[in-house]
Amino acid sequence: MIPRVRRIAAVCALGAALAACGSADPAGSARPAPAESRASASPSASRPPVLAPGPGGLTPVFEHGPRTLGKTVALTFDADMTADQGPRAAAGEHFDNPDLIGALRQLKVPATIFMTGRWADEYPIEARSLGNDPQFEVANHSYSHHAFTADCYGLPTIAADKMRADVERAYASLHQAGVPHALPYFRFPGGCYDQRALRALSGLGVTAVQWDVVSGDAFATDAGAVTRQVLDGVKPGSVVIMHCTRSAAPTTERVVRAVVPALRGRGYRFVKVSDLIGESAGHR
Ligand SMILES: [Zn+2]
Repeated sequence: MIPRVRRIAAVCALGAALAACGSADPAGSARPAPAESRASASPSASRPPVLAPGPGGLTPVFEHGPRTLGKTVALTFDADMTADQGPRAAAGEHFDNPDLIGALRQLKVPATIFMTGRWADEYPIEARSLGNDPQFEVANHSYSHHAFTADCYGLPTIAADKMRADVERAYASLHQAGVPHALPYFRFPGGCYDQRALRALSGLGVTAVQWDVVSGDAFATDAGAVTRQVLDGVKPGSVVIMHCTRSAAPTTERVVRAVVPALRGRGYRFVKVSDLIGESAGHR
């Protein structure tokens, strides 16, 4: 019984974590000033734009691009895999989603992938392919997918003095997998952060990237409902959160195939997160 109970608990924890990626702002999270007023342009075209740090070098947080610079939207996909899911992958569970990436390529949709280091360890060929395809940009979603605050939807919590090392370990895993230029953008697992977490990562030079549109693709079975939620939520400059894992987000490819033509029909153009941050920089 105990192993069975443990397995259920683990599944629930992952479920909560993924659902958290589609939830509203967690209670107690930091609410920094609007990104638009704090963006800074990169001096070099080859270096991705980042937001200027907050007071005391605090890690800046980006939620969406300008609302008044035309109809652009960024689709983001979290490649989640928690540190303890290796045995499940070995048993045949798929935490990747090659058909989703294939659909994005077929539809010529630029996208930003927030990849955990554990995912890159498990799927190095896919990680390398994404990291070397100019249609995509690969950013950091932690190594372990543990929470950076307490009470983050049941995720195990990482200690404050381990946070920076976890993010650095993820960059090391991405690099080892063959992602040559992972972006200086970090998405908190579950989207959970507070001042302490932002402080712990200050000095890394990363911009934390949240979102303003929840797709609700985590554990969804009704692609139509997810599609409607995205189409109802997108505004100019929006950042949409979705997932790149067959295990926990099995409808996402179908959602993308429906959402992309619908938004293009409304005049939207798909861009990467770096494009939106760059637009914010020019908007100041
Ligand atoms: Zn995640």
